[in-house]
Amino acid sequence: MTSLLTNGATNGASNDIFAGVSLQDLPKSNTFTANLPSDPQFKSPSDSHKAARGDLGPRMVKGALYTYVRPEETEDSELLGVSRTAMKDIGLIDGQENTEEFKETVAGNKIFWDNETEEGIYPWAQCYGGWQFGSWAGQLGDGRAISLFESTNPSTNTRYEIQLKGAGKTPYSRFADGKAVLRSSIREFIVSEALNGLHIPTTRALSLTLAPKSKVRRERLEPGAIVARFAQSWLRIGTFDIIRARGDRTLVRTLANYLAEHVYPGWESLPSALEDPSKPTSSAINPPSGVPADKVQGAEGIEENRYTRLYRAICRKNALTVAAWQAYAFTNGVLNTDNTSLLGLSLDFGPFAFLDNFDPSYTPNHDDHALRYSYKNQPSIIWWNLVRLGETLGELIGSGPKVDEKTFVEQGVTESFAPELIKRAETIIGNVGEEYKTIFLNEYSRLMSARLGLVSEQKSDFEKLFSELLDTLEALELDFNHFFRRLSTVKLSDLSTPDSRTEKASIFFHSEGMTATSGVTESAGKERVAAWLEKWAARVKQDWGEDRDVEREAAMKKVNPKFIPRSWVLDEIIQKVEHQGERDVLKRAMAMAEHPFEESWGGDREEEERWCGDVPREGRMMQCSCSS
Ligand code: AMP
Ligand code: MG
Repeated sequence: MTSLLTNGATNGASNDIFAGVSLQDLPKSNTFTANLPSDPQFKSPSDSHKAARGDLGPRMVKGALYTYVRPEETEDSELLGVSRTAMKDIGLIDGQENTEEFKETVAGNKIFWDNETEEGIYPWAQCYGGWQFGSWAGQLGDGRAISLFESTNPSTNTRYEIQLKGAGKTPYSRFADGKAVLRSSIREFIVSEALNGLHIPTTRALSLTLAPKSKVRRERLEPGAIVARFAQSWLRIGTFDIIRARGDRTLVRTLANYLAEHVYPGWESLPSALEDPSKPTSSAINPPSGVPADKVQGAEGIEENRYTRLYRAICRKNALTVAAWQAYAFTNGVLNTDNTSLLGLSLDFGPFAFLDNFDPSYTPNHDDHALRYSYKNQPSIIWWNLVRLGETLGELIGSGPKVDEKTFVEQGVTESFAPELIKRAETIIGNVGEEYKTIFLNEYSRLMSARLGLVSEQKSDFEKLFSELLDTLEALELDFNHFFRRLSTVKLSDLSTPDSRTEKASIFFHSEGMTATSGVTESAGKERVAAWLEKWAARVKQDWGEDRDVEREAAMKKVNPKFIPRSWVLDEIIQKVEHQGERDVLKRAMAMAEHPFEESWGGDREEEERWCGDVPREGRMMQCSCSS
């Protein structure tokens, strides 16, 4: 059974004493392929293995959730980097990355399948669909990702599905080449581990491999690369979408059962609406403490079945994750349903970015002219995606107590039962939507309070502190994440007079001073920040009393990162690796991404300070296109 108690962000805390095992000895499984239907054209691993690699290319795959497909060979591959935290979280012993077995596996040249004996685990690519930019896009699927196996960390018991991105064409490649370029692979490699370092639930990255012989055509010819990545599950809303679009109601139920029994920790762990707040129903997926009981109850008289609890669990996990994105100003950039995880993981890193200056309308996606996936829209767009999921699960959740009746299971909804079923499903989706909002707001408030160094949460903080701060950052074009780290160092004694507050205010401005184009003068800007600092100081005093600056600073620095992988930093790393042949820079950047709250990382001090310092003017709020 997998452990989801940490809501995805593991940080390796639980296996400090365990040294790890070799890749060979890592316990491996194929729960996914063993429990879900495979592509009828290549029913078994050997059917697929017998086929010429070129015959496993793009086509429509019906009635299946995956196809067995092996990675393409990578000639002269070069392992460019690994994440130490990832190695540890998977349960791999230090030094494994230097073995041929590791390098060949993450390059796609070795699979754990013996074709003679037909034993082992055969790789697969998942089938899914998706709503992209509000329109139905049909079959998508792992067009360039191939899962090798699942592994279970013997110490934490956490099971991950390990896959290679950029390892060649699959039946789901559509018109594309199955490859990934170095530039976008470096971005994914680093941001996955950075989000995990920030305790934000995310898919992970184990390694980055250069495929020097694979020249990939995008805007120009570019070197190819492979990221070995892993997640407790790669299932996404798009997986349900494709089954629904094909009208396969039996497979909807099969997948929902699989999700509850093999990905979540079992039906009994899933949360029901809390009738009695003193008796929480689930350890793993409960709302954060402090959620008012009435806000998480279903409507009176609605009979919920276990599929409703599954839907609720998925929505809650996503609410928690999107709250963390908002609190750390992370924007995914392409929140289509195929990029929305059923486990609430940050998923699929294309034109993502962290905000530099606080601009709620910002999107890193150059092609998103309608700003559909802008920073401020993320909470509502994830809910839009979750409603698509609610519609797919509608028949199951709407059937209430009849869900397991033989005639319903076999024949589905009768005309006479339909109105009741639809009404129940709509009510449940509406109620879960209310919970989603509540859980989102509670988590956002919890994170923002912590970032501001507050110990207690007060209702008035939202308006007086959070909103006023965000408005100020926006109006004055100040850097969001720098603000919190710098605030951590401010002593209450520095804020005791109007003059000292105004003086302190300057630490939050860009090195070139006031940049806002809104016509605010520098002194008016400082006055505004100073006024906010006065309110903040009063709240901090309430929570901490006097003379506890040192403790508060330490607490704040644990939640306010010094390092954030900004777009300009990632661009510099890409330049160095791709054009200047540097390798060590990846190691230095990864160490910072894995441990973003440190003060220094023992690398190149000048570089560390530069990457953590003021964002160069031309590097602020960059955008990129989707061609990765
Ligand atoms: P994304 O925009 O990354 O969410 O991708 C949407 C779909 O296109 C997914 O099914 C991807 O697997 C597929 N895809 C994206 N790039 C490629 C590529 N270079 N080769 C094959 N499939 C791709
Ligand atoms: Mg995607």
